[in-house]
Amino acid sequence: MTASPGRKVLLASPRGWCAGVDRAVLAVEKALEQYGPPVYVRHEIVHNTHVVRTLEEKGAVFVDTTAQIPEGSIAVFSAHGVAPAVRAEAAARGLATIDATCPLVTKVHKEAVRFAKAGYDIMLIGHEGHEEVIGTSGEAPGHITVVGGPQDVGSVAVRDESKVVWLSQTTLSVDETMETAGALKRRFPALVSPASDDICYASQNRQTAVKKLAEEAELILVVGSSTSSNSARLVEVALHAGAPAARLIDRAEEIDPVWLRDVATVGVTSGASAPEVLVTGVLEWLADRGFDEVELVETAEETITFSLPKELRRNLRDEAAAPPGPVPRHDPPAP
Ligand code: SF4
Repeated sequence: MTASPGRKVLLASPRGWCAGVDRAVLAVEKALEQYGPPVYVRHEIVHNTHVVRTLEEKGAVFVDTTAQIPEGSIAVFSAHGVAPAVRAEAAARGLATIDATCPLVTKVHKEAVRFAKAGYDIMLIGHEGHEEVIGTSGEAPGHITVVGGPQDVGSVAVRDESKVVWLSQTTLSVDETMETAGALKRRFPALVSPASDDICYASQNRQTAVKKLAEEAELILVVGSSTSSNSARLVEVALHAGAPAARLIDRAEEIDPVWLRDVATVGVTSGASAPEVLVTGVLEWLADRGFDEVELVETAEETITFSLPKELRRNLRDEAAAPPGPVPRHDPPAP
């Protein structure tokens, strides 16, 4: 198709893979290299269909529960983190585990443990049933109440109104989280806030960038899977920021050409678990339809990286053969 004057793409930067996703995917790849398939992964290593299928082709086996992993196997915990009960179950099954929990999720787990020990009731702002929320809640049973939004604040119960703190899932909308925290503060004036908010740098940066796209783009395409919390938030943030339309797509083939009717400027971004190859596919699809001018919209520069899980520096096969020891704890704190 020939180029159409006036049609352009605004491409968000930063977008796509974050340091935690990079580390988690690399951990599975390294485990496959080091030990050979199968390597079992509890839940999707990151919430992206393409990533999961690619790792499956290399020999990773994704399971929903620890009980599905054969005893003595190599198992990877996903970037979303797990509760201590899962670690204990894995140890009881003699699994050799590699913990790919994002260090920024681990930071929230540690906060939950610390506040629970100090006798606080913890208001965990997040989505009930999301793996990260389940993992964090498991760190402080009996102390955590999941708060989905301001509508939940009126019904939460606490033991002592002078000892209440809020924490949050790492991938939420910053603006919505602050609204919920504000409602909690009105209900509990002594509410303690975390030292730094828990929403991770990658979620925040991608939200800032998509807001910038929304100033001009008539349609925003967010590349990411429907299971990806941070990707879904990007669609919401774009719409709240004034974009006339925003769509979540797993890949270019999901774009409906009807969406482009009367559209001259398309914004493109991707969630923290979406690989760049999928964005490239979207840009090619758009170029074929006359959107071949691409303008980078840069709102931040990201330099953060995380080192690989420490378990990859040891021989887990030897450890699995040794008598059981204490249940392993988390990675070192986030850098
Ligand atoms: Fe870690 Fe944030 Fe990436 Fe989740 S989105 S893996 S919390 S850096």
